[in-house]
Amino acid sequence: MRWIAILISVFVLGCESKSTPADSYEVVTTTTMLADMVQELAGPDVKVRSLVPVGADPHLYQPTPADVRDVSRASLVVTNGLGLEGWIDDLVRNAGGKDARVFVATSGIEPLKIDSDIDPHFWFDVSLWSTSTSGVEKQLVELQIAPKDEVEARANAYRSRLKALDTWVKEQVAQLQTSKRVLVTSHDAFHYFGRAYEFEVVGIQGVSTEQEASQRDVMNVIKLIKAREIPAVFAETSVNSGLVDQVSRETDVKVSGPLYSDSLGVKDSGAENYEGMVTTNVTMIVNALGGETQVFTQGLP
Ligand SMILES: [Zn+2]
Repeated sequence: MRWIAILISVFVLGCESKSTPADSYEVVTTTTMLADMVQELAGPDVKVRSLVPVGADPHLYQPTPADVRDVSRASLVVTNGLGLEGWIDDLVRNAGGKDARVFVATSGIEPLKIDSDIDPHFWFDVSLWSTSTSGVEKQLVELQIAPKDEVEARANAYRSRLKALDTWVKEQVAQLQTSKRVLVTSHDAFHYFGRAYEFEVVGIQGVSTEQEASQRDVMNVIKLIKAREIPAVFAETSVNSGLVDQVSRETDVKVSGPLYSDSLGVKDSGAENYEGMVTTNVTMIVNALGGETQVFTQGLP
């Protein structure tokens, strides 16, 4: 009977491989940034997948049947939390959730509140991103996803690169006078960035792309740009640029970017990992607002 079972399992695996790889992912994350962090900590041999693909919007994402299957097979599911992924609870429930452990990467982080909304975009503060590695590191060790000493060494190396990156960001933005540090974007993703690096942040839409901007919101942004003589507004890769385009037309201020807000960039974009995402964004922001950035080289892979 055993060979029949083997034949059946080969058949089943063969069928599944048509849409996605037959073998499962050890760790599944909701965002591309978290997939990058887990890969950094766990090492290249551990199979990691982000549910939300590169360039897609995690606020509005709709899970696929392949997501249900991968979550049900994974040893660990890492989410951002803070309301970024309104769809994750249903997905975990549909996946049966029996074996997968769900870990919220922001569980040790004090969230920022914008009016009454909790802001989920903590990754724009490099020091907070670094803080969040500790919880993920602990999960990888406890679940024996990779050897303890390797995970610890990788996590420590990653955190020291992030420290250098945080310093680099501070040096670059310091070129701009505080009055010039105004960041106008499509959706309100950059408040953690603003708090960490002393920028005034104006999102035309709310903290989630699920919210819609009113014409009054748009008019207020236009008034602000004119009054403060802000030289650039920024589009984002994972958000429709309609609102910034409108603001740009009505103010004659150019659209810069697109910034990588809620997703990493595609391969060879320079923003295909977290460190590249940060350096690319900061370079675009500082240069568009009148500064001139130096290249960040320290510790980049
Ligand atoms: Zn967002």
